[in-house]
Amino acid sequence: MLELWGVRIMSAAEADTGLGDTSALTRRILIGLAGGMSLGIGLNVFAGDSSIAHFLVNGVFHVVGQIFLASLKLIVVPLVLVSLACGTAALEDVTKLGRIGGKTLGLYLLTTALAISLAIIAAIIVGPGEGFDLAAQNVGFAAKEAPGLAETLIGIFPDNPFRAMAEGRMLQVIVFAVLLGVAMTLAGEPGRDLLRVFESANAVIMKLVFVLMQIAPYGIFCLIAKVFAEQGPEAFEQLIMYFLTVLGVLILHATVTYPTILILFARVAPLPFYRKLRAPMTVAFSTASSGATLPVTLRTVEERLGVDTSIGSFTVPLGATINMDGTAIMQGVATVFIAQAYGIEIGPAGYLTVVLTATLASIGTAGVPGVGTIMLAMVLRQMELPVEGIGLILGVDRLLDMTRTAVNIIGDAAVSCVVARSEGKLDLEVFRAP
Ligand code: ASP
Repeated sequence: MLELWGVRIMSAAEADTGLGDTSALTRRILIGLAGGMSLGIGLNVFAGDSSIAHFLVNGVFHVVGQIFLASLKLIVVPLVLVSLACGTAALEDVTKLGRIGGKTLGLYLLTTALAISLAIIAAIIVGPGEGFDLAAQNVGFAAKEAPGLAETLIGIFPDNPFRAMAEGRMLQVIVFAVLLGVAMTLAGEPGRDLLRVFESANAVIMKLVFVLMQIAPYGIFCLIAKVFAEQGPEAFEQLIMYFLTVLGVLILHATVTYPTILILFARVAPLPFYRKLRAPMTVAFSTASSGATLPVTLRTVEERLGVDTSIGSFTVPLGATINMDGTAIMQGVATVFIAQAYGIEIGPAGYLTVVLTATLASIGTAGVPGVGTIMLAMVLRQMELPVEGIGLILGVDRLLDMTRTAVNIIGDAAVSCVVARSEGKLDLEVFRAP
């Protein structure tokens, strides 16, 4: 047993003894990930276009993978509504809401700005786009229109909670749940009655997350096998420097920025944090969707990291919707890459604009696969860079999307721990428990 920053760190052997349900599940999930990768690569190299590969990839893996995704998405809306309404009501003092909201937003913005700055510095040093001569090349990509600022702001406020839930508009659901929680607190006895119903529903939905997670190892196996079977090495030939730069910064942000924040602001050791995040990280990696991973992230943050529901039920759904550090990193590197590839000078003021617009673009990115690249168009337009440059990076985007989604959810969990600690709502016993 090791003592680090006053926190007991278990060795791997110690941690493996007395496996609870969650540890066993995490192990099965990791086996699913490794197995899916091996089979996918094997199929890609040895089976190529054969009918058996086609049957497995487009048949079995596709069907099981989609069922797994559906099972995750199924619980997102009820989970956010019920758990956030309970969390808000548990705060009792409504004025605390503003303080917690301010801290959470501030930290989300800070980590995102740090992430893009790292990305820009790395891209300038590495120069992944140098040597491309694209003025004459047509990469054939038509960017979709990114939504405007006014439209985005208005869109946060629901006019019909049922439509918001049916359409899965997470910011609207969050606003409605907070309002409901506040009203339950203010309503006295009837509010307390409804709260008891919501608390029971919350416990049942959390159990449902656990039940549905039992198929996660198979779902992850299939999703990963499909990606690796379809993604050949050809896509990487020209883009290897871009790919490695994004990957390097993602790893740097995950292994340096977050641990530093946890140590400095939450005064906790990062190792237990990462060990407990293995399952949500794997789910994020295989689904490439922070939104779909939300039930697993929330459950881990509250039940295994010891963040009180009154904080976690707010910070985690909000983070899954607006906090996308990994996405911001891709957008930062991609902008510099595209400018270099087209031989366009950005300059110091330009880099500042990239930091600002990429922060906004990552906030506007929905937690579903591939949206980060669509929102990249907003940054490129602002910088007057050729939007069709996005077509260049699409070949390697899926793997980066998977990795950046894992970073996105680590950011949500780290900020949740910091905010909880600052409010005296981080249960250190639970955080440190193996
Ligand atoms: N897939 C990312 C997420 O869900 C968003 C993106 O970067 O495309 O967090």
